[in-house]
Amino acid sequence: MSQQVPSATSTSVSANGQFNPFAMAQAQLDAAAEILGLDPQIHALLREPLREMQVSLPVRMDDGTVRVFKAFRVQYNDARGPTKGGLRFHPNETIDLVRALAAWMTWKCAVVDIPLGGGKGGIVCNTRELSAGELERLSRAYIRQIGRILGPEMDVPAPDMYTNPQIMAWMADEYSVLQGHNDFGVITGKPLGLGGSKVREDATARGGMSCIREAARLLGMDTRGKTMAIQGFGNAGQYAALLGEELLGVKVVAVSDSKGGIYAPEGLPASAVVAHKRATESVRGFPGAQPISNRELLELDVDILVPAALENQINAQNAPNIRAKICAELANGPTTPEADDILYRNGVYVIPDFLCNAGGVTVSYFEMVQNAYNYYWNAETVKQRLDEKMTAAFHAVHETAQRLKVNNRMAAYCVAVQRVAEAVRLRGWA
Ligand code: GLU
Repeated sequence: MSQQVPSATSTSVSANGQFNPFAMAQAQLDAAAEILGLDPQIHALLREPLREMQVSLPVRMDDGTVRVFKAFRVQYNDARGPTKGGLRFHPNETIDLVRALAAWMTWKCAVVDIPLGGGKGGIVCNTRELSAGELERLSRAYIRQIGRILGPEMDVPAPDMYTNPQIMAWMADEYSVLQGHNDFGVITGKPLGLGGSKVREDATARGGMSCIREAARLLGMDTRGKTMAIQGFGNAGQYAALLGEELLGVKVVAVSDSKGGIYAPEGLPASAVVAHKRATESVRGFPGAQPISNRELLELDVDILVPAALENQINAQNAPNIRAKICAELANGPTTPEADDILYRNGVYVIPDFLCNAGGVTVSYFEMVQNAYNYYWNAETVKQRLDEKMTAAFHAVHETAQRLKVNNRMAAYCVAVQRVAEAVRLRGWA
């Protein structure tokens, strides 16, 4: 019986006219399915999450009252292995956002060819309003509810927006207590003292640097002294600045966070800006730099633009104004399909999100392997294996883009979706 699946005419906007990240993820998949001539049954399966769980978490606050937090976990597809993906603590978290992010994790693990599926989770909360004790109780409450569908062979969370190694440690502990034995492989991005992997902390940005290096080579660009602007200054953005300087020799001229941005045409010293951010919780007010808005930063005349903040930042409105030669997406979902077409036409070399930021999950996979063997690798081994994975994935995507004459995002989809579809077929699901 034939399945009804939409054609590639869907957009990133849902019926009410609002940006909907899951509609965008589905529109991207639909376009790839059309290019690949994907079996409609497999397409239908890949358009929706396999499993999802929504829970309410009662948490005792410091003042003695109980507050209820909404939380999610989406296991999008596990055809290639246990589902894998981060946990976000964010006030604007929605089930559709988590679905989109879980879909992108599925394609991310496939494009770097690690034997994992895709998942994502989130709690609707503002970490800035929580004490350390409240954050710990919230993290443990999440595992008490969601822990029943987690495990090293089922689904393995990791850090993401506003979550960190300490939160992963509390969760690994809570899970181990529930199991009655230590089971640290349930979660990655743990601190080094509790089964974490060397190089996990900067892995997302480091993987992105491998991609930028390869893109620059293809474009005949020597990255030394070239300018870089970074939107977003969380884990990925901070390490992009530090490693951009160290590994590529770039000059970081602008960075921003949710409170605003800073610009200095002669270059910002990355480590001093990171220290300022850690001390004051913002990049704003960095001595000697001029203020700049997030929007202005994206449109700067720089060589390399690194969106490392939220989804839906480069869209049909501002895409015509993007002047960078390379756009390296460390954020998930920063560019809408409408903007993709514009950037492609304008010759901007886009390194798409689920390729560019796959370094984090790649080292998470290495962490799972090390946990399973209970034997740990040195930093050089992790760096070298990460670089091999990223370089191979980058070239697989680039060659596919050239062969099919499509933009890099579609090429990344084609590589990833084909791999997941193959596993679906081999398992006899369609
Ligand atoms: N949260 C990161 C991502 O979006 C890492 C996921 C992981 O390590 O499982 O890729």
